Amino acid sequence: MQDFSTARMSEAQPAPLVDRLLRFDPVLEQCHEAETGRERVANLRETFWLGLVLFNAHNITNAVLVPDVLGFAVVLRLLVVTPVIVAALICMDRMPPAFRERAILLLVGSAFVMEIVLFLTTRSEFGAYAFNEFTLTLIYGNMLLPLRFRFAIVFTAAALTLTTLAVCLKPGLDEALRFAFVVQIAMACIISLYANFKVERRRCRDYVVAHLALARAEQADSAKQQFQDQSRTDPLTGLPNRRALDEHLRTAFADGQPLAVMMIDIDHFKPFNDTLGHQAGDACLTSVGVVLATAAKHRDVLCARFGGEEFTAVFRSGDRDAIQRLADAFVRTIAFLQIAHPGRSDGIGVVTASVGVALKPEGQTDPQAVLAAADRALYRAKSRGRNCYVLGDEARPVQVAAA
Ligand code: GH3
Ligand code: MG
Ligand code: MG
Repeated sequence: MQDFSTARMSEAQPAPLVDRLLRFDPVLEQCHEAETGRERVANLRETFWLGLVLFNAHNITNAVLVPDVLGFAVVLRLLVVTPVIVAALICMDRMPPAFRERAILLLVGSAFVMEIVLFLTTRSEFGAYAFNEFTLTLIYGNMLLPLRFRFAIVFTAAALTLTTLAVCLKPGLDEALRFAFVVQIAMACIISLYANFKVERRRCRDYVVAHLALARAEQADSAKQQFQDQSRTDPLTGLPNRRALDEHLRTAFADGQPLAVMMIDIDHFKPFNDTLGHQAGDACLTSVGVVLATAAKHRDVLCARFGGEEFTAVFRSGDRDAIQRLADAFVRTIAFLQIAHPGRSDGIGVVTASVGVALKPEGQTDPQAVLAAADRALYRAKSRGRNCYVLGDEARPVQVAAA
């Protein structure tokens, strides 16, 4: 669905979706064509094949009503109009929609003109009865195809004008009969055009209602999704928040695969805030967040803001070397940012972070136990001078890498 739907749904400035001639807004027209164009072509083809049979069946009635021009009628129907219609039907699905609808008008209009010519040229005593075919062609174009409303107006107006002219010009017709014919064709025009309007209006309404219902459903879905995303995202760093982390840990622990949990804590962050201010502190957290988010582009890593100046990474891997490389990368990259930290007393002068890493023991199902182990490893990294990581599962020696 295109942006159009939501734009149009705004109550503030309602724009007409369908105008008086039952034309859709251009963007809606595109949607309508994309969704219903194939069906329209299939329907038109079906109706035109039937129309062709009926159209040529008129040769039979012509043999009785207008025998003097029968040869002309047969040649025109079978050798001119029919091949043109067949060619149009064959390539109808390749026609641009606007051209297609005009082509239909032209085809029905030509058939109508042909009937008018026969009506005018025949000198047969029953020739006036051929008048009936005008009405049938009107019903066919306006009600059976049906032409789009705006083209039905054109067709009806042309049909009324041409028929009135033909009735007035036809020699030897009783004056009262001329009048009756004009009234008859006028009534056929009104009835068929009104029927066309009702059918076309129903089509447009049904489509608009369905389209807006779909747009509303999509809007509700996206609002829900946005709400869910917001409730799982840390607003400062854009990283997943604690709730998202807990959900992720639950899923990751449920599948029994090996993983590592890392607690990442900015060193001496309190003095950073105290010397540079809370806003600078926020900017620093955001920068660290970017480093972690970059690492989280790896499909097996999730980085979240645990709270305050602490972050958590969950690495779904049992590869000890890869885990150490990631922890090492965190420590080095955060120091590499070179965020000035005039408030720290150990002489490093830039913001650094310490990382505590814990591997999930096989069979461990409690994420909190592994988080606690990572926290203990972090504590050891802090006590070893910060700006380093410690891989801290109890069974193995603690490893430290200088940044
Ligand atoms: P250590 O190296 O031992 O981790 O020392 P530290 O100063 O980083 O740790 P401490 O727990 O004493 O201080 C953490 C500070 O983080 C305190 C708090 O003001 C700051 N902090 C927590 N959340 C935010 C935040 O959202 N924005 C800012 N600017 N500061 C925060
Ligand atoms: Mg800290
Ligand atoms: Mg802390």
